[in-house]
Amino acid sequence: MEQRGPAVPSTCIRVFEESGGVVLSSQNGASTGECAIEDPVTFQRLTMPDGSRIELDSAIAVRCSLALEVLAWVRDDLAALATRENARLAKLTGVGGYACRSRNRDTGAPISEHASGNALDVGGLLMQDGRTVAFAGQEPASRSMRDAVQKSACQRFATVLGPGADSSHKDHLHLDMRQRSRGFRICQWTVE
Ligand SMILES: [Zn+2]
Repeated sequence: MEQRGPAVPSTCIRVFEESGGVVLSSQNGASTGECAIEDPVTFQRLTMPDGSRIELDSAIAVRCSLALEVLAWVRDDLAALATRENARLAKLTGVGGYACRSRNRDTGAPISEHASGNALDVGGLLMQDGRTVAFAGQEPASRSMRDAVQKSACQRFATVLGPGADSSHKDHLHLDMRQRSRGFRICQWTVE
């Protein structure tokens, strides 16, 4: 469709910005068909209610509804559980968003939720004091954080795949909002 003048941001994108999302772009990419993102938003930074900033280690493009969910997860769950560990969350590491591909990059497999911007990959967390939490790690010191992240992710996202799910997810967490019949959810992450 031909665009005339500056695009008007969607309600979702306005809410995302008002809630602290820093939008780098809300333009539709060239992709169409099963690799198109509905109401896309590209972002790398989230501003918390206290003015602090939490960064993603790379900018991601996702559909706005997922961006809102990620923002709420970071603000209401991850930042809070870092505080409980006397830390301040600085960064999400190993982040990935949009990718036009089949699931697990298997030829012939169904299209990935990443292809419609409905999924986020994340490897771990970095605190302001330099502490790290690798979701696939086994360090006893960060075990309670991994447990808490697992609980919050599985409450919030329709799909959670991590270590223990399959070989494609042994080193990171995959989160998406895939819609299934009767609201069926998948939570497959064995925390060690
Ligand atoms: Zn993924």
